[in-house]
Amino acid sequence: MTTKMAINAKDIFRNQHRLIRFIEQSIRLCSNQSLKAARQKLSENQADDFKITSSVNTEYSHSLEPIKHDKDLGHLFKASQLTVRLASPQQLQPKPDNDEALGFGKLFTDHMLKIYYHKSLGGWQKPEITPLENLVMHPAAKVLHYAVELFEGMKAYRGVDGKIRIFRPDMNMHRMNLAAMRSGLPTFEGKEFVACLSRLLSIDSEWVPHTDTASLYIRPTLIGIDPTLGVASSDSALLYSILSPVGSYFKSDSSGAVSLLADPSYTRAWPGGVGNRKMGSNYAPTINVQKEAAARGLQQVLWLYGEDHQLTEVGTMNIFMFYINDKGEQELITPPLNGLILPGITRDSILGLARQWGKFKVCEGVITMPKVCELLNQGRLLELFGTGTACVVSPISRINYMGQDLYIPTMEQEKPVHERIRETLTDIQYGRVDHPWSVVID
Ligand SMILES: *Cc1c(COP(=O)(O)O)cnc(C)c1O
Repeated sequence: MTTKMAINAKDIFRNQHRLIRFIEQSIRLCSNQSLKAARQKLSENQADDFKITSSVNTEYSHSLEPIKHDKDLGHLFKASQLTVRLASPQQLQPKPDNDEALGFGKLFTDHMLKIYYHKSLGGWQKPEITPLENLVMHPAAKVLHYAVELFEGMKAYRGVDGKIRIFRPDMNMHRMNLAAMRSGLPTFEGKEFVACLSRLLSIDSEWVPHTDTASLYIRPTLIGIDPTLGVASSDSALLYSILSPVGSYFKSDSSGAVSLLADPSYTRAWPGGVGNRKMGSNYAPTINVQKEAAARGLQQVLWLYGEDHQLTEVGTMNIFMFYINDKGEQELITPPLNGLILPGITRDSILGLARQWGKFKVCEGVITMPKVCELLNQGRLLELFGTGTACVVSPISRINYMGQDLYIPTMEQEKPVHERIRETLTDIQYGRVDHPWSVVID
């Protein structure tokens, strides 16, 4: 071996960490190709006038009222107390290599976040990140008997710049605390929980898919674990979060639109109930109806309410209609937050964006099935679509209502509003445009 070669070999060993980083970056660049193409597509599209400004117009975005904690809640938890127990190399799971075939909520990352609450120990305990593991609880735990449980649905997106973002997390935290109050479960400071979640996301960051057709679903959950059978508020609870890489949420037909079963004999929510909270008890009773829809070749359930058959939600999504109103104007309408409707963050964002665009009327109002039939007959119904974190926007092509098939022309519009909305929201979520709704995790 010549001296020169020996030096080179030495150099390589000394710099092997750089070499590894270089190889890793090259691999990542390859999987980022689709993001680059998407970015190019965006700059071509920017010419039209449906642009969004990065300043959220405060006129349209209400600030959230701070959560009032119960006076005997005890101490709160802080992200600064967070401890981390990493999975051993043998515990690490292989990451999926086909982001498009992920489905929804079938795979989970290597770690989870846990925060216990014990009134007897003075309140919230220290937050901990641990390997993903089974929970152990007493068979009398309240969650197992009275469904003392609530959850959230958020996503982490890998942006075109490689940074990981979450979308309006303060809204999820607020909604979660409102559900905790309604369930007799302890409240917490949303900011602190988001800070803990951010740490979990950075530990499992390689699980955030390297594409703009998939994301990492975040499932914060709060359960009552008191080992007593009384129907009463729980003196101990567990707040935790798991993460799951997800592709698209559900099957649609070849056009990308879904068909719905609208059967007025089923009700999802009622006045004075908890249809406006993400509590597990709202969802178990929908599963059999969903099965019935599937048996009839329909993909989702359109939940109706009342004698006038009001449209409330589609599956686990809010519903929007774009139509020509009685004054002959184009209008985007969604049911009001009257207690029957889950206050969707996608819903709120769409209302905010559409009002900021100022291209058509935007309104919160009751929509009934007779009205839908009338609008269809008069050719005034343009689009119908569901909205939510899991799917962003899901166009509707058909409703089976009282034995009749109603064909909705959502996919037949030339420049459909639901497409504009999907593009704008995903541009914000994947960092193709800067917007204060998108929060970068570092
Ligand atoms: C989660 C959910 C939504 C959508 O809320 P987002 O915050 O937009 O994800 C709508 N309806 C129901 C019933 C839900 O559970």
